[in-house]
Amino acid sequence: MIASEVRALFAVASRPEIVSLAGGMPAVDALPMEAVAATVADVVTRRGAVALQYGSAQGDPELRARICDVMALEGITDAHPDSVVVTAGSQQALDLLTRVFVDPGDVVLTEGPTYVTAINTFAAYQARVVHVPMDDEGLSPAALAQTLARLAADGARVKLLYTVPTFQNPAGITLTPSRRGEVVELCRRAGVLVVEDNPYGLLSFTGAPTRAMRADAPEDVVYLGSFSKTLAPGLRVGWALAPPAVTARLVLAAESAILSQSMFTQLAVERYLATQPWAEQLKGLRELYRERRDAMLGTLAEQMPAGTSWTRPDGGFFVWLTLPDGVDTKAMLARAIAARVAYVPGRGFYADGSGGTSMRLSYCYPPADRVREGVERLARVVRDELAL
Ligand code: PMP
Repeated sequence: MIASEVRALFAVASRPEIVSLAGGMPAVDALPMEAVAATVADVVTRRGAVALQYGSAQGDPELRARICDVMALEGITDAHPDSVVVTAGSQQALDLLTRVFVDPGDVVLTEGPTYVTAINTFAAYQARVVHVPMDDEGLSPAALAQTLARLAADGARVKLLYTVPTFQNPAGITLTPSRRGEVVELCRRAGVLVVEDNPYGLLSFTGAPTRAMRADAPEDVVYLGSFSKTLAPGLRVGWALAPPAVTARLVLAAESAILSQSMFTQLAVERYLATQPWAEQLKGLRELYRERRDAMLGTLAEQMPAGTSWTRPDGGFFVWLTLPDGVDTKAMLARAIAARVAYVPGRGFYADGSGGTSMRLSYCYPPADRVREGVERLARVVRDELAL
């Protein structure tokens, strides 16, 4: 595992005068805090003896039933609560899954770029991460087929394809519906389990949510979900939906990792979903993030010099910006921070050292006027950089 080289700079980046387009922090200040407080109080007064007691490693059955209702919003209508394992954020589900499936030297396929903490999880279990290129339509099936063939010829053991198909972190790209089937089919034929990590799927700016890959491939896909972006990350409630044989192993791994999930936060989430207008609040979140996304894309279009390019997300938190060859976004970060704007350099989102000319920009946390200000500052830094 590699400590983030830019962590020291992030300490600086959290100063109030700096516009941070770096962190992927949800806008929790948009939560109705009184309603959260009332729910938590209700859980303690009415069900304290359960909420404060140990529970099962698989998670509270009532919450698992509600999670099935949430997944139905993305077309997963056949999920049974027995196939759901509640975890401490979806991050823990990914850790447990890797622990169960991956031996040292095994290959995990991922998009390039991919979610940085997933790379670290795979590294913790000594997996070899191999990237499959993406374009504007997401992971390329042709490139996946080539990569699988090459790895088979090398005798590599390929265990997982880890994908964030909807509003990807860090690129903001969504895998098209027609490619979803192709990707699953290629993996099925190669005996590779697909891990669909989907924390952003319900944060669509264009209407109905995208149909999950798992909806059409219950045997071939493990789905990871989370309340971190649709409710609050501090609760640490996520889940995995898996075929029965995988579920049983995940529960065993969860027992050894954590004994019991927090009953307290599980019951709080369950009661919150049962008693609050969560679907309405999601609509509000989508509007809030869409306004910030528009502020970012609009200002990028006005301000960024020729030769730069960026993605145009239809949901989620992130834009992926690429500068002309020769620019090193990691070296440029110190100058950006001096200009009071922060981003995440692109190299950390690859296991193979690529991404040096790219960066991840998040619009999720600062209000729209701060997003605009941040992008203006960044554009000045980029123009200076290119003039050097
Ligand atoms: N996967 C992706 C793609 C993410 O962006 C994140 C959060 N940044 C996670 C997983 C982890 O989320 P959780 O809080 O549910 O552990």
